[in-house]
Amino acid sequence: MAFEGLAERLQGTLQKIKGKGKISEADVKEMMKDVRRALIEADVNLKVVKEFVKNVSERAVGQEVMKSLTPGQQVIKIVKDELTKLMGGEQSQISFSSRPPTVIMMVGLQGAGKTTTTGKLANVLRKKYNKKPLLVAADIYRPAAVKQLETIGKQLSLPVFSLGIDISPVEIVKQALEHAKEEHHDVVIIDTAGRLHIDEVLMQELKDIRALKEPDEVFLVVDAMTGQDAVNVANNFNDAVGITGVILTKLDGDTRGGAALSIRSVTQKPIKFVGMGEKMDALEEFHPERMASRILG
Ligand code: GDP
Repeated sequence: MAFEGLAERLQGTLQKIKGKGKISEADVKEMMKDVRRALIEADVNLKVVKEFVKNVSERAVGQEVMKSLTPGQQVIKIVKDELTKLMGGEQSQISFSSRPPTVIMMVGLQGAGKTTTTGKLANVLRKKYNKKPLLVAADIYRPAAVKQLETIGKQLSLPVFSLGIDISPVEIVKQALEHAKEEHHDVVIIDTAGRLHIDEVLMQELKDIRALKEPDEVFLVVDAMTGQDAVNVANNFNDAVGITGVILTKLDGDTRGGAALSIRSVTQKPIKFVGMGEKMDALEEFHPERMASRILG
């Protein structure tokens, strides 16, 4: 399970302080030493760890704990609050265009789960938001990607716009946008090319697609299992093309938590969804508070 180690460590640490009727500065220091270690072991970005420890420590030795009748529990509440804040605080909603179609670009490195997530997202948009999505196969460099998206479309009974692989992605998207208008699709989700590494050609192509029609969302799909690397990838994509949000995949695996806990703070971009499995219904909206509760038990 994701965050298992981190959850166990934090819960163990907080258990010690839970029932305390009085909490000294030394108690807080001791506790935060454990918390710090747990976060670092979970591969959380060092700057993020420092900031988190500072914020919790300041509040934990402050008035809100001193005045509380149950100081131990108050401290636990502070840890939960700050953990929630770290992951973005409020749930981040999807931006829909007031002039449909809403355009969503999916970007990411190969293998992150981009094509699968494109299908999952369309499924959520149809089911929960009553939308009529069109999927666009613009990943022409991995030939199997076009077929994969078509298969996903069939499986979900959702239309996929594809023009094969001998045509430029920009042209595909251009025609897809026209098609969407004609067929009254209110959301267009573009599966762009993934590469093994971030390179100039990939970024330029994404910028060219972006330039056709300003997308309402640019979602970076990253593999949560890659920890700190996911944060670097997010920074690079954000600098090069600009992203509006992150979808973290493979949170059903045994990821330690580094990506989920660092990405928002480092990139200032919200996690919008999390992938919880390979099946088409395994995409969940990301709720920072629920995630914090899950970690703290
Ligand atoms: P792309 O190269 O980024 O388009 O990646 P794919 O969509 O082809 O996904 C790569 C692999 O990751 C596939 O085997 C997917 O089934 C798998 N995958 C994607 N998302 C998840 C997830 O949330 N959990 C798990 N366990 N597997 C996932």
